[in-house]
Amino acid sequence: MARGRKLIAGNWKMNGLRADGAALAEAIGARAKAGSARCDLLVCPPATIVDVVGKALAGSVVALGGQDCAPAEKGAFTGDISAEMLKDAGCAYVILGHSERRHGHGESDAQVRAKVAAAWRAGLVAILCVGETRAEREAGREVAVVSGQLSGAIPGGVAANKLVIAYEPVWAIGTGLTPTLADITTVHAVIRDNIPAGTRILYGGSVNPANAREILSLAEVDGALVGGASLKADDFWAIAEACP
Ligand code: PEP
Repeated sequence: MARGRKLIAGNWKMNGLRADGAALAEAIGARAKAGSARCDLLVCPPATIVDVVGKALAGSVVALGGQDCAPAEKGAFTGDISAEMLKDAGCAYVILGHSERRHGHGESDAQVRAKVAAAWRAGLVAILCVGETRAEREAGREVAVVSGQLSGAIPGGVAANKLVIAYEPVWAIGTGLTPTLADITTVHAVIRDNIPAGTRILYGGSVNPANAREILSLAEVDGALVGGASLKADDFWAIAEACP
């Protein structure tokens, strides 16, 4: 089934000082201005440079997002950043439940759910990451794992314009490995059955200029969440250009 414009989102993770971030954002913004992107574009820099990246992207079509947020709006939460703060800094999106937070920081579905609710409270679109580990995939549990993460982490009141799902198999992130196209299609179809019609579902995990075209040509794939390859403007742009 033909769907709308795809979304190519860059997750810069913990990379970039002010000068690097501004240079990367300017390079991406310049390409987006010069060419007519066939997709929507988003970059999610570290919180410390959201402001500088936002200024570098001013006037371009590239949107800005955060990489995490706290459930609370404000208060005694040392080191945390609220969804309202991200919104105030110019963000329209926030990545939540990334595997590096679920597995590296022990975040549960209940915690992710509270963060998704916080994103909505602040008027941000939540990019909810789901995906199985290698052991779960080898045990044939990927559909059960992803279904459980969706039911555990999506609050009531969900609507397609407030949510993006990123299917990111943990074993594919930063490894150069990707599922088969058939496997991506299967999991995306399961996700689609569990979310409101029209919600975008991105694929994430070792997307690069060489594999982007075949992945993005899948009708079930509404875009990509890109880690490593989003740190080079040429590669990020090549992935955007691979959108059909
Ligand atoms: C990610 O961390 O969201 C990701 C998809 O990383 P990479 O593209 O580097 O696999």
